[in-house]
Amino acid sequence: MAEAYDPGNIFAKILRGEIPSQRVYEDDAVVAFMDVMPQGVGHTLVMPRAPSRNILDADPATFGPLFAVVQKIAVAVKKAFNADGVTLMQFNEPASGQTVFHLHVHVIPRFEGVPLKPHSGQMEKPEVLAENAAKIRAALGS
Ligand code: 5GP
Repeated sequence: MAEAYDPGNIFAKILRGEIPSQRVYEDDAVVAFMDVMPQGVGHTLVMPRAPSRNILDADPATFGPLFAVVQKIAVAVKKAFNADGVTLMQFNEPASGQTVFHLHVHVIPRFEGVPLKPHSGQMEKPEVLAENAAKIRAALGS
């Protein structure tokens, strides 16, 4: 049997505003924010407000609004960083590489010949994340 959703997970705390994050977009159903250990410049996470551990226990009604924002963010990061492409990643349970158990999608701008950095690797400086978040917000607004 799958484990239950834990409302004490770090992304639930970000959703409730209990810990800070660099948000780039939010609406009634979805929040997008900067990954603190980016695998590349502009690495953004998109999560539904509705609680689920991952894709395995999510209400299917979650995916429409979630992926509409994933697309919005993919277009914005490509523009903001003049990227050549965009990688989406989404992990389900520890065996797959998931480390935070609130459903989310990774949106990562990609550049020809530039490999991804390790998953959950090095912390980025807050001022760099803030600068990148501002670029994404600007791209979303135009
Ligand atoms: P997962 O392995 O669950 O798919 O990805 C979790 C992601 O969340 C990782 O890429 C990791 O860098 C990021 N992350 C972990 N803790 C925090 C945090 O406190 N704030 C933010 N913004 N990202 C986090």
